[in-house]
Amino acid sequence: MNYDAFFVDALARLRDERRYRVFADLERIAGRFPHAVWHSPQGPRDVVIWCSNDYLGMGQNPKVIGAMVETATRMGTGAGGTRNISGTNHPLIELERELADLHHKPAALVFTSGYVSNETGISTLARLMPGCLILSDAFNHNSMIEGVRQSQCEKRIFRHNDVGHLEELLRAADHARPKLIVFESLYSMDGDIAPVNTICDLAERYGAMTYCDEVHAVGMYGPRGGGIAEREGAMHRVDVIEGTLAKAFGCLGGYITGTAALIDAVRSYAHGFIFTTALPPAVCAAATAAIRHLKTSHWERNRQQDRATRTKAVLAAAGLPVMPSETHIVPVFVGDPEKCKAACDMLLEEHGIYIQPINYPTVPKGTERLRITPNPYHEDALIDALAEALVDVWERMGLPLGRRAEAAE
Ligand code: PLP
Repeated sequence: MNYDAFFVDALARLRDERRYRVFADLERIAGRFPHAVWHSPQGPRDVVIWCSNDYLGMGQNPKVIGAMVETATRMGTGAGGTRNISGTNHPLIELERELADLHHKPAALVFTSGYVSNETGISTLARLMPGCLILSDAFNHNSMIEGVRQSQCEKRIFRHNDVGHLEELLRAADHARPKLIVFESLYSMDGDIAPVNTICDLAERYGAMTYCDEVHAVGMYGPRGGGIAEREGAMHRVDVIEGTLAKAFGCLGGYITGTAALIDAVRSYAHGFIFTTALPPAVCAAATAAIRHLKTSHWERNRQQDRATRTKAVLAAAGLPVMPSETHIVPVFVGDPEKCKAACDMLLEEHGIYIQPINYPTVPKGTERLRITPNPYHEDALIDALAEALVDVWERMGLPLGRRAEAAE
């Protein structure tokens, strides 16, 4: 049998559906981020990255790099096994304390990624509550959907951010039954925010538990970087806050925070925690340094918001179709997968600007877009160059441009 033919066919299907993905070969330059080297087929070239989820540039922060290097030098590279087998490296204990404190929760548990924390966290919690009904936002991330699926619990999907619909579903459910509402605080493709307090009101009224993914908000929102729930004064109302160490904290790993019993139960039952090697101590120390720094430093958060506001204004003034977003995410509408990919290719090859096209299934068909994430280090000149490059690409590809206004100051 020609086994390879299965895979060749599978790839051909993706190409037919126009969603075969290509990743650029990039090398970030620490200290000069968002500048990077693109290893193009013609050789290395300088480019500017406009779509990194190292939202605050903490991956190049000297304290964070220093903590990683110093810890690796002292403790070596790997964790040496699962926590079950090898015990816990001390930097991981410190990281969990730091996270519990960040969210004002009694306990935290670290996983190897945000994806794993959602998948194994949601499925384990739900399975531990007999007869649990899961209420899940329609736009939840794939890791949450997988967690819901793996729990094998009954589920209801509520329309995105529609608290009226959520209430209808809660009202229809048996009051005595355990219920888990799973949602994100900040949806990363549209840049919109969940009504966290209203969801908590409903949870209290109908006796439900809440699980909130703050992956795109931790480090960036709230006075200490605790996320949207912190900003909205709702941290104590959300039962489980989940986050990542890989975006605003510039490292790798994911976590959940909650009561001591809840965290201990997930630690004791979650396969995605028990049967995999723990994060290396150097990564834990680096993440702790990033979290500590962002608890007291407001410069990165404020500057990121300022850069996002300016980018939106400059692009909109140039007539580009900036989609409405209340956060640091700047989506620019294209509405066609091939044009989206072609626009990104032109930006990279001709303008030295790297933006990954966002196509189905990450976003619904017909809403393909460029997703731009300004960070504190995108200076005015880079924003102006981005606008010029986008206008050039839009004009040459015949994509619709609105009326131009004076660039906002
Ligand atoms: N949750 C959301 C909402 C995400 O967008 C992502 C994407 O990366 C994850 C979880 C997974 O986090 P991580 O990249 O740390 O695995």
